[in-house]
Amino acid sequence: MPTTNDKDMCCSPLHGSGGNSQSTPIVLTDALGNTWCADCQHRGELVNWGKRHGWPELEIYPYAMAEGAYYWQMTATQGDESRVWSFLGLIEMLDATTEVA
Ligand SMILES: [Zn+2]
Repeated sequence: MPTTNDKDMCCSPLHGSGGNSQSTPIVLTDALGNTWCADCQHRGELVNWGKRHGWPELEIYPYAMAEGAYYWQMTATQGDESRVWSFLGLIEMLDATTEVA
């Protein structure tokens, strides 16, 4: 099981347990306690959005995420960049839609 609790370690698969292990300045700790460097803080913002909205199910082709904090956590800490950015684009759209409604 990957260790993602080191406080000085970015939780991104690009920087943390995914192989390219390195200590980086942490700029964001998200609602689940994951720590992120400046390059990866969008992953923490994804988690914080999920928390605010009750960890909903999301689907944006070709990606899908089931309901629940566990799946958000897995996406944030294991998902590749394309997947994470797709969900970020989707929630941005959902926010815009909600404001209009
Ligand atoms: Zn990082």
